Amino acid sequence: MVRHRTGRGIGFADEGPYDRDADGVLWIRQAIARGSGRPLFPTVHALRQRRTVSRMLCQVCGADTLKHDPERQLFVLKDVGRPIEEGELTTAAPVCPPCALIAVEHCPHLRGHVAAWVERPLPWGVAGILYDRDTLSPVPGDDLTKVAYGDPARHWLVATRQVLSLNGCTAVFKDTGYLLPAGAVGPQRPLPREAVTT
Ligand SMILES: [Zn+2]
Repeated sequence: MVRHRTGRGIGFADEGPYDRDADGVLWIRQAIARGSGRPLFPTVHALRQRRTVSRMLCQVCGADTLKHDPERQLFVLKDVGRPIEEGELTTAAPVCPPCALIAVEHCPHLRGHVAAWVERPLPWGVAGILYDRDTLSPVPGDDLTKVAYGDPARHWLVATRQVLSLNGCTAVFKDTGYLLPAGAVGPQRPLPREAVTT
């Protein structure tokens, strides 16, 4: 890792035109992760996550959830002891309703989960590995650091995930049908507005 020629961030010594996104954020390369010796961040799926989140593709089947319902997307997140809040930040991609069941059955981190229909999932920023401005080494920590687009701190980060903010959220219950197998539930089915229980 080297200091960027502007002095206000990090960069790769052999940086190429595809190493940064439109906001100037540096994105992880597979070779960097292998050589770092750090605990394995979920780097393998960085490109896939970026693609699914930026295009609103279902995280299970890859289908375009905007085609399924252009007005709202279904998000299933790990349970943090409360419903999904307005402006909730997440690195999760949406799921199409038939895939919600598959997601919660096959993703261990979704064993306990909350869900919401979201009208406006908006690009918020990136999550990744933060680097120290003096040592140019990764700042110790277990969690990925989230940085908003426009925040100068993003220049000291190697992104591994795109982050969305969820706006226009309507929490849904487990028992309202969104977790039923394909064919048993339609996207038009009315959903109650009570708080989520898990
Ligand atoms: Zn799907």
